[in-house]
Amino acid sequence: MTHEILTIPCLADNYAYLLHDLATGTTAVIDAPEAAPILAALERRGWSLDMVLLTHHHWDHIDGLPDLLAKTTPRIIGAAQDAHRLPKLDIAVNEGDIIKVGNLEGRIIDVSGHTLNHIAFAFPGAVFSGDSLFALGCGRVFEGDMEMMHNSLQKLAALPPDTLVYSGHEYTLANAAFALEVEPENTALIARVQKIKQLRAKGIPTVPAALSLELETNPFLRARTGTEFAKLRSAKDNF
Ligand code: ZN
Ligand code: FE
Repeated sequence: MTHEILTIPCLADNYAYLLHDLATGTTAVIDAPEAAPILAALERRGWSLDMVLLTHHHWDHIDGLPDLLAKTTPRIIGAAQDAHRLPKLDIAVNEGDIIKVGNLEGRIIDVSGHTLNHIAFAFPGAVFSGDSLFALGCGRVFEGDMEMMHNSLQKLAALPPDTLVYSGHEYTLANAAFALEVEPENTALIARVQKIKQLRAKGIPTVPAALSLELETNPFLRARTGTEFAKLRSAKDNF
């Protein structure tokens, strides 16, 4: 094992993640919805915060940063093209760039659509997708267009199938209801939804999820064309 990842529930339904490189002891948080639960997790594990990786500029992904910075001194990484509306960046990145969390190398993928210049961080075995790809769903298309969002999801779909997807929210149960409308006969989906219900009944996060499972069950990832995707996304908006 090269790393450890902690899932940290924040606010009503957000997730932050601590990514800890075992070789060097370096720790990054992905998104900063709320400082207190992140600081508590760091303290519990005796880790210091070295980096903050921001997926996009929405308040529920950055508003915890000032309180984090009052207690820690991480470098802040975010999309160069969104620097004007992100907190002050120490490292501004573009698609294809590699950022290092200790010895762990993460590749920047532009997954615009929910917002423009939304980025995902693809590490070996783990991708942090923010509000682009969710378990059984995807983010609403606010700033980009349907074609752009479809293209972004297809980039994530091309990652190794055993990659675990760490997304920005716990929306899985609501997403499941829509997915079942779209593919009521999908046996992998039916089985997955049953497991999700059991997990949520116990308050357990349904993330991360293997990309291979998303490819079998997530209708938005299964849409083959931009047009097919657009139909699905519009239907979900009114579901
Ligand atoms: Zn968002
Ligand atoms: Fe969000």
